[in-house]
Amino acid sequence: MIASAPAIPPRPLKPSYDVIVVGAGSGGAAVTRRLVDAGAEVLLIESGPAGIGIAEIDDPAQWVPLGRGAYDWGYDYAPTPHVNGRTIGIPRGKVLGGSSAINAMMWYRGHPRDYDAWEDAGAKGWSFADCLPYFRRCEDWRDGASEWRGAGGPLRIERAAEMHPVAQALIDGAAELGIPVIDDPNGPDNEGAAPANFNIAGGRRWSAVQGYLLPILDHPRLTVLTESLAVGLTVENGRCAGVRHLVGGAERENRAREQVVLALGAIDTPRLLMLAGIGDPAELGRIGIPTVHALSGVGRNLQDHPLAQACVFRAKRPLGPVTGNSGGSMVNWKSRSDLPQADLHAFPVQGNSAEPAIRARYEISGDVFSFGAGVMRSKSVGHLRLLEARPGGALEIQPNFLAEPEDLEAMVTAVEAVIEMAAARANAHVFAGFAAPDRRLSRKETVAFVRDACSTFFHTCGTCRMGEDEEAVVDSRLAVRGMGGLTVADASVIPIIPSCNTHAPATMIGERAADFILQAA
Ligand SMILES: Cc1cc2nc3c(=O)[nH]c(=O)nc-3n(C[C@H](O)[C@H](O)[C@H](O)COP(=O)(O)OP(=O)(O)OC[C@H]3O[C@@H](n4cnc5c(N)ncnc54)[C@H](O)[C@@H]3O)c2cc1C
Repeated sequence: MIASAPAIPPRPLKPSYDVIVVGAGSGGAAVTRRLVDAGAEVLLIESGPAGIGIAEIDDPAQWVPLGRGAYDWGYDYAPTPHVNGRTIGIPRGKVLGGSSAINAMMWYRGHPRDYDAWEDAGAKGWSFADCLPYFRRCEDWRDGASEWRGAGGPLRIERAAEMHPVAQALIDGAAELGIPVIDDPNGPDNEGAAPANFNIAGGRRWSAVQGYLLPILDHPRLTVLTESLAVGLTVENGRCAGVRHLVGGAERENRAREQVVLALGAIDTPRLLMLAGIGDPAELGRIGIPTVHALSGVGRNLQDHPLAQACVFRAKRPLGPVTGNSGGSMVNWKSRSDLPQADLHAFPVQGNSAEPAIRARYEISGDVFSFGAGVMRSKSVGHLRLLEARPGGALEIQPNFLAEPEDLEAMVTAVEAVIEMAAARANAHVFAGFAAPDRRLSRKETVAFVRDACSTFFHTCGTCRMGEDEEAVVDSRLAVRGMGGLTVADASVIPIIPSCNTHAPATMIGERAADFILQAA
């Protein structure tokens, strides 16, 4: 713990606030900051601890063990035969900053077509042209403002201070396969190999806490309540009037004069809605929850990117100490040349990052490096269901990874390509042979490898999808359909998973939610 770490000022709870935000992650921190700045009195309720000044959170190199640690909810994806019956861990941040406080700190917003597809799917006003100003508003990009990038915003974004040999090997290998080398993957197109963009500043993680919350932590209009689990919503006459939450083990209610904002993330926002009786009446009835407001889409449309974790290679020499987040570069490319945008993504790992099933099968000790590769335009869709009608009860979280044959095909292509990137002539000075897999595989063998290696990019989203149709949970202004006083501002509203990591989109959604609430006031 850093001695001078800022502390949350203790404040007695008032009976009511203009706005209550539940969840202090990527979306929740952004919406809270903008509302407080605009004059609203806000109560921010977070189930995790403050986590401010904790060395493991601040040090970019330590993000992997944060998963399954004290600041993680510890969820698992349910098994399917497509991944050989394995459960797959899905960390979610349980701390101020949410998943942005335990994530891998990569900042990408995908391809313009990702957001144009949202608009085409019925999310009116969410085309790339509509979203770009909000992405720019989030950013404090090291190279300064441009048509595509923002400067002076809350979130610091930098490239790696120095290019690690493994990060350079990914770029050089991609170039040898004919993939363009680009300067900025957050420019007009994201196809190509490039140095990574990170939420890291001065060698420390720059989460939503640093960017959005620390500067206003002692603002008189903001009350931040940590270690308080939201367990229910108060609904009166078709309007959400308050939040029920635990304080020191006892349940209490706080009321919202204008709006309750749910930003609990794509697992816990649908969970709280369902616990409050907002969901599919058949699903609610199955576990004995009376329906308060019927919305059949709650918990459906769960999406995530499947990742082959990972292809591991022998290194010719020790590759030096870990730098940054242990990556440093990235590549986006197309599995087929006729595609309109890149659908595959790979990143380097300075060491061994293989899934347990891969570690069990191959000998991977010694000097090694890894390339993770996966599908960023995945089509498989899953669901989230409550298995028990109580806060903290069991869940079924099912991403259905590789259920769509197209996703499996693209994963196999991604794995074959990163193997060639590692073994490229340009990498003769680092590449000493294959470790996992231990040789070039046939297409059929690669399918088997992929089923064992399939893991997650940690991009759970879509479970409270926005749109204007009957299955949509929120409308295009993020208001829960058919109810008053209730907005959702996190990755759960994403209708179609974008071709990027999801912290930037979730933050942009939080920024926009604040504007919608302020415009409606
Ligand atoms: C290990 C890991 C690595 C990742 N790497 C990257 C990356 O490099 N780049 C990237 O862009 N994305 C990455 N992601 C994904 C990205 O961080 C998330 O998609 C994004 O942060 C989600 O934002 P959110 O606002 O939807 O939810 P979160 O940030 O998860 O926030 C939800 C908050 O709500 C709180 N909460 C939940 N339930 C309750 C309750 N009942 N009461 C009160 N509070 C509650 C949680 O504790 C949490 O603080 C990663 C995620 C993980 C976990």
